[in-house]
Amino acid sequence: MSTAATNSRLLGDFHIHTIASGHAFSTLQEVIASAQSRGLRYVAITDHGPARQDGPKLDYFKNLRRQDSLRELPGVHVLVGVEANIINSWGDLDMPSKLLSELDIVLAGFHNATGYGGSSVAENTRALVGALEKNRIDVITHIGDPRFPYPVDLEECIAAAAAKGVLVELNQSALHTWKPENVAHYERVLALLAKYNMPLLMSSDAHISYTVGNVSECERLLANSGIDPLATINYSEDLIRKYILKSA
Ligand SMILES: [Zn+2]
Ligand SMILES: [Zn+2]
Repeated sequence: MSTAATNSRLLGDFHIHTIASGHAFSTLQEVIASAQSRGLRYVAITDHGPARQDGPKLDYFKNLRRQDSLRELPGVHVLVGVEANIINSWGDLDMPSKLLSELDIVLAGFHNATGYGGSSVAENTRALVGALEKNRIDVITHIGDPRFPYPVDLEECIAAAAAKGVLVELNQSALHTWKPENVAHYERVLALLAKYNMPLLMSSDAHISYTVGNVSECERLLANSGIDPLATINYSEDLIRKYILKSA
């Protein structure tokens, strides 16, 4: 990483929900305006995939990627993406591969109310590793997070993600209450990402425009572990190009 391309200001937030997700509160326009006012250069719109009961339908994503006006906004590069759902033990996602390939960024994870009913660590791990094998995925969201009933074998999943160059996020929404079990979980994630030599990505997982670009608790976790937040992907144009835009 060249230090010249590392900024002291957060450059990007790549996990954000709009009102289209059904349980979030801000429009696309409000999210983008918030990103612009915070000086973010990159903002990803990653609404929940269609398997969630309250999520948008496939046509939302098909149409969103055709909105060329999003490519021409001053100061900010809008990435059109999805937070896809892993929907079965074989690792299928709730979006056809053609559409996944046409989006700017694909996040994937387990969520409630999607029809997925994994009931053991072994089954969830098989599903997540299978998802990595079968699908175009750029980021795994809230991996094994204790807030969700889908524990996984963290090391097996992070090793599989690292082998594919797939990022594993640190999730602000999981950390903002600073619950000891959540903090301990993400400390383990951090240690495994270091073991497998993976760069760090912080996500707001914002569900309202006011928290776009807020990764303060992710930064606190890093600082507690002696890691400089400025070394994360979010502060580095070079790392964003390499791991998110895949253009380096
Ligand atoms: Zn999620
Ligand atoms: Zn999310």
